[in-house]
Amino acid sequence: MADFDFTQRFIFENTDVRGELASLEESYAHVLAKHTYPEPVAALLGELMTAAALLVNTLKFDGLLVLQARSAGAVPLLMVECSSARELRAIARYDAAQISSGASLQDLMPEGVLALTVDPAVGQRYQGLVALDGANLAECFTNYFINSAQLPTRFWLYADGQRARGLLLQQLPADRLPDPEEREASWQHVIALAATLSAEELLGLDNETILHRLYHEEELRLFAGTDLQFKCNCTRERSEQALISLGLADVQLLLEEKAGTIEIDCQFCNERYLFNESDVKQMFAEQDAGDASSTVH
Ligand SMILES: [Zn+2]
Repeated sequence: MADFDFTQRFIFENTDVRGELASLEESYAHVLAKHTYPEPVAALLGELMTAAALLVNTLKFDGLLVLQARSAGAVPLLMVECSSARELRAIARYDAAQISSGASLQDLMPEGVLALTVDPAVGQRYQGLVALDGANLAECFTNYFINSAQLPTRFWLYADGQRARGLLLQQLPADRLPDPEEREASWQHVIALAATLSAEELLGLDNETILHRLYHEEELRLFAGTDLQFKCNCTRERSEQALISLGLADVQLLLEEKAGTIEIDCQFCNERYLFNESDVKQMFAEQDAGDASSTVH
């Protein structure tokens, strides 16, 4: 069902601008159900999830988009991962003692940095950075596109702990409107109208109504929506790999410390993976066998 969590693309028929609306509800609820986030942190995390939903469509290959906002403030980390299969997960770290309701991005993440990482299944990983110095995350993403000299792009992102929604507008290469002055005037017109949209409108109205309110004088084409969903990609095998990377001696020490059972909890979905002594023996034995088969001929 595309009722709650989806993105929907639109284009203007008479100018070179594309748009995208993102709406997250169930996936957002899943993320918030795993941890009890203070309201301003839940809002920031929802905004970042929405940005990931809007940006994942620009991935033209199989892989993962990772958005990480880091700071030395009350919220040291916000992280969202969204795959090209449109499965997303998210987490935030925060110091509840330093957070008051209504706190802004600058209050919570002073001197922060936003990293966008594109991790394709095949090929080179790419990372871009931008300072988290905007009034809100939407402004930071807009700045990211300015700094990286990509197509002019604007973001509007809102989340209220129940719904997370966003709008993206992007100027396309000149085609329908080749005259540079007309082209710029048209872009400014389109974004000025979008800027009149309030958080309440974006959070509360359906896409058709939003677009009608903003652009009823323009010719628009709205495409069918594409679903997204919450899904954590953690596995027992990955937890095993993490243990193996520690080395047998350290894992055995850990086993002793933890009275015979190592617990590895996934921070994204709260899944717990348990490893006892025989699990540990077996995984290191398999690892040794694997090493032997790959090095001995
Ligand atoms: Zn997980």
